[in-house]
Amino acid sequence: MVHSDMHDNADLVIVGAGLFGLTIAQQAAENGYRSHIIDVRPHIGGNAYSYFDKETGIEIHQYGAHLFHTSNKRVWDYVNRFTSFTHYVHHVYATHNGEVFPLPINLGTINQFFRAAYTPDQARALIEKQAGEYANVTPTNLNDQGIKLIGKPLYEAFIKNYTAKQWQTDPSQLPASVIRRLPVRFTYDNHYFRDTFEGLPTDGYTKWFERMIDDPHIEVTLSTDFFDANQPLNKANLRGNVPIVYTGPIDRYFDYQLGTLKWRTVDFKEHRYNEVNHLGCPVMNYVDADVPFTRSIEFKNFNPERTKVYEQKRTVVWDEYSRFAGKGDEPYYPVNTAADRAMFAQYKAMEAREPDVVFGGRLGGYAYFDMHQTINAALVAWEKQVLPLLTNPAEK
Ligand code: FAD
Ligand code: UDP
Repeated sequence: MVHSDMHDNADLVIVGAGLFGLTIAQQAAENGYRSHIIDVRPHIGGNAYSYFDKETGIEIHQYGAHLFHTSNKRVWDYVNRFTSFTHYVHHVYATHNGEVFPLPINLGTINQFFRAAYTPDQARALIEKQAGEYANVTPTNLNDQGIKLIGKPLYEAFIKNYTAKQWQTDPSQLPASVIRRLPVRFTYDNHYFRDTFEGLPTDGYTKWFERMIDDPHIEVTLSTDFFDANQPLNKANLRGNVPIVYTGPIDRYFDYQLGTLKWRTVDFKEHRYNEVNHLGCPVMNYVDADVPFTRSIEFKNFNPERTKVYEQKRTVVWDEYSRFAGKGDEPYYPVNTAADRAMFAQYKAMEAREPDVVFGGRLGGYAYFDMHQTINAALVAWEKQVLPLLTNPAEK
């Protein structure tokens, strides 16, 4: 229980109203436990939060485009309890040397790039030849993995410069997993994701999240920092007195004792056009070095089913610029070099000193999790870590 002088009787305090925190709160409520969620931001939903633009009615994903996809039936059934999904299927295009290509790399990209009409087998043989010495290595970094997957010419056109802009880290220092997220296909199938289930929440992300926590067992306090000693729900007051689920940055929790984990952040530049459609697609990647941003997002193209909004002669486009996060910036992507991973492992070991705290989510786990992975991790953490803390509190 939280101290009575805090006028609170929560069984559990959750730091962070992102998908990890919301899932834990929902599971706790369903099992009869009261939780109090705090978030330093003025809204719930974490990085997946969206709002409807006042001028145009277009749904804007405030922290960058969020597309829901999963092959995990349990997660799909779970999220469908709180929202229905549209039939949206994600497609991305890339501008390279003044020409537009389909992504992810597929037979269409390959044939357009080489001005050819290769069959799948011919294209596969060509790529293997172009992978050269990388064809037979087990890649441990993004550079080797990228070349192995698509050969040198395509890697240099579509991956090298984009990755440099996105990560500003030598691709040989980045984990191979970053690029394995993207399928490579020797057919003309250009679906961006390879998952079984896909779609966008019918009435927007925020309505979905509101329904997850629409329960008297759940209280939410926004614009409240866990590390701000001037508000009662702070670390010093709560630690050791109530079970805590912490989804903020793990290095911040431990006062950066071992150093700072590297993150990338994203800046957005907004443009508004008096056009029905500006890009003609939801996401256009700019894979060349001479365009300073990585990609542009035209939000209305995520929701063509909202006919009135979609057909109006007005549209909103955001250009995405990626850079290293400094203190005070939103941490978006863990850089995850070998040095970062070693530091994270040391922080992880320090969790043993915090028997009442469960660390989770993208920031707590220093992990490149998609929404479905975050939700799955939270469902597992609820069963394996949080519920045992509530039924059998740690020794004080
Ligand atoms: P967050 O959403 O980061 O929530 C953590 C919360 O903790 C935040 O609201 C933060 O304000 C709060 N917090 C931190 N410190 C404190 C503190 N001291 N006190 C109080 N509160 C605190 N996933 C997909 O599935 N599809 C996509 O297309 C996709 N696109 C993405 C694009 C971008 C640019 C980014 C950054 C992520 C994307 N993701 C996508 C991933 C998705 O955002 C995450 O999986 C998910 O939001 C993680 O939820 P979380 O709860 O772990 O973290
Ligand atoms: N990537 C690339 N060129 C592209 C698209 C992606 O090089 O046109 C690489 C890049 O390194 C990126 C990774 O593939 O970080 C994963 O891409 P994804 O679109 O999944 O990135 P996210 O949406 O998470 O930013």
